[in-house]
Amino acid sequence: MKYNIPFIKPAFPASKEVIEDYKQILASNWYTNFGPYEKKFAGALENFIGQDVHVATISNATLGLMSAIQALLGKGDGSKYVLMPSFTFIAGAQAVLWCGYKPYFVDIQEDTLQMNINQTKSILKENEGKISGILFCNAFGVGDPNISSWEDFAKQNSLPLIIDSAAGFGSKYQDGNYLGARGDCEVFSFHATKPFAIGEGGAVASRDPELIEKINSIQNFGFDQNRDGHYLGFNGKLQEINAAIGLRQLINFPERIKSRQRSLFYYQDGLKHLFDPQVNSERSALCFATVVCRDSESRNMFAEALEVGGVEARRYYSPPIHQHDYFTQNRTQWASAPLPVTESVSSRVLSLPIHDNMKSVVLEHIVGLIKAAK
Ligand SMILES: *Cc1c(COP(=O)(O)O)cnc(C)c1O
Repeated sequence: MKYNIPFIKPAFPASKEVIEDYKQILASNWYTNFGPYEKKFAGALENFIGQDVHVATISNATLGLMSAIQALLGKGDGSKYVLMPSFTFIAGAQAVLWCGYKPYFVDIQEDTLQMNINQTKSILKENEGKISGILFCNAFGVGDPNISSWEDFAKQNSLPLIIDSAAGFGSKYQDGNYLGARGDCEVFSFHATKPFAIGEGGAVASRDPELIEKINSIQNFGFDQNRDGHYLGFNGKLQEINAAIGLRQLINFPERIKSRQRSLFYYQDGLKHLFDPQVNSERSALCFATVVCRDSESRNMFAEALEVGGVEARRYYSPPIHQHDYFTQNRTQWASAPLPVTESVSSRVLSLPIHDNMKSVVLEHIVGLIKAAK
């Protein structure tokens, strides 16, 4: 099906700009392995996030999550759990499994769509000695208003707190600070489909410079300065050309986020009687607009109306991770608390397109289709 209005419309720098970068890369004869563009990009990301963070760039967020788990928890023997939501992208659970841990799925809250901390506390009590860490996820790249409570909880229980902020580069917490400085570290994706896109790419940000150094070693085969394989590592390095694209994408990024937020306000205004917005989404970079419908029938009806009208809408995260085939087939590899809110929300969720600088006629069309469907 060809849509008149695609779900995602990445905005990349013009070819004539990237050709200049490519010429530079050829002249320097340095294509990857922490070259000049990578160093400059890592520094630019640190400046953007502020708050004295240090940044390791990486070739994608999945490897970013794995490097963070590896650095903070070490390789697991398959017997211990990492607490995480099921209502997130499947990469988080895959990273946990590849690192030798089992996901322990926790439910979410209806208003924030973020992990439920009270349920997490009782899971921890019931599973003494079996939990190795927390893979928190800022759902849809929206900063959790409750993030300080998570930090306190993690500290009190000496659990590493890794934050999957994959879709949230450029989003802000309620205190007005950019995502990137909370927990032990935050992991971002710069995949082509994210608000900040460089093709394949990502970053790990932390206030702890030693952790970032360790992550840089892990993503470079675990090498130390003498190229001695010191940690269990892999290859996760970011290429120069992607770093060069990233430097170009940072220009005007705040303005582009503002234009995306205007689209969200348009949806919220036009559809306010139909959905409740996710808490703090108005401060986020918005990979798309998430709306949780009153029931699954109305969700399906709206989705159908958009489809017929040539608008590509999706349903994130439906199914939630625990209902994906691999997880239903391998029931011994994970554990779960009851997930009534996760299952209910995923049956009602609808994801609407957000692009940079969306035209109001386009937004009007989408809102009109939904309104006419009810
Ligand atoms: C996109 C995304 C990922 C994966 O990022 P990649 O860079 O494609 O590996 C992981 N977690 C969440 C929540 C995501 O949205």
